[in-house]
Amino acid sequence: MAHIIFNSRKQTARFFNPLKNGEMDTQEIEIRSDPLTKFQSVFNPALKDKKSILFPDTDENYLDQVIRDSMDNCFLCQERWQEKTPSYPYEFIPGGKLVNHDVVLFPNLFPLAAYHAVVMVGQKHYRPLNDFPVSLLHDAFRVSLEFIRRCFDADPQVKYFTINANYLFPAGASLIHPHIQILGGPFPTTHHELLLRESKTYFETNNTCYWKDLVEIEKRLGERWVAEIGKSNWLAAYAPAGPNEVQVIWPETHHFLQWGEEEIHAVAKGLSKTLCSYHEMKRSTFNFSCFSGALDGSDDTFRCMLRVINRQNVTPHYRTDGYYYQKLLGSEIMIEPPEELALLMRQYFR
Ligand SMILES: [Zn+2]
Repeated sequence: MAHIIFNSRKQTARFFNPLKNGEMDTQEIEIRSDPLTKFQSVFNPALKDKKSILFPDTDENYLDQVIRDSMDNCFLCQERWQEKTPSYPYEFIPGGKLVNHDVVLFPNLFPLAAYHAVVMVGQKHYRPLNDFPVSLLHDAFRVSLEFIRRCFDADPQVKYFTINANYLFPAGASLIHPHIQILGGPFPTTHHELLLRESKTYFETNNTCYWKDLVEIEKRLGERWVAEIGKSNWLAAYAPAGPNEVQVIWPETHHFLQWGEEEIHAVAKGLSKTLCSYHEMKRSTFNFSCFSGALDGSDDTFRCMLRVINRQNVTPHYRTDGYYYQKLLGSEIMIEPPEELALLMRQYFR
């Protein structure tokens, strides 16, 4: 029996609206709270009319220009990574970098944690979101997990890892060339810590695992459910932490060291399909973070999960999608209702 509550509160705003001939307008606002973190996400159906201002389409000509301008100086293209990227000490990683087909892992020049690696995802300088093949993502995640294993073997104090991505500059990437980042340290980041803590609290209160309960209830309700790939479960987040958030849950694995080929294949296949769906929605950027419990197995109430979201499309002088509401009030706005997102996504997961 799941103890999950999908909290939804309504508010009404009333004003004379010049866009409706000065007539009294009544707008219904829904504020949802994430069942675990209590993170709030707000939906006002009227915002759909403002979508072209809030999230304008990608400017393809501008994007082409940015790709061309950055290609010649890209330190990853044309095998330049061999000379231009840093290397780990050889006793930690023989040869200094991990190479797997078209994927290369090397240290971040400006690390944010004790272990902060970058993975070049393929030789191509730019990929539209419908060109992230399963095999390429598979190689990227395999090399990431190999790195995480090596870190924990070398330094068992370093047990909190995430696998992350910024794609294109509106999503925070300083490099056009597709890449992901692995971040590992002796304590978790703020959101990671919140997930671990609230998972523990939920278990202590209900004597059941939040993530197993979430999968069970979302699967039963069906309206936000997208698909099951192997032992991974894909769904549209009830209270999304960013535009079009898809959540992935592995109810059988607590941490990355428990991942094998099955889990790697599932994340690669599902992410490839999710990015294809985003492409069909005319989105060109994304962030994802994949969370693990502590590698020593101490977070037995947590399960591996991943969040993937869109960011602003590539346009010149784009308006940021992180302003006071997101950065300081810590809430988010839904443009697409999660139930409609799931409906669309299911077509691409068939
Ligand atoms: Zn490049």
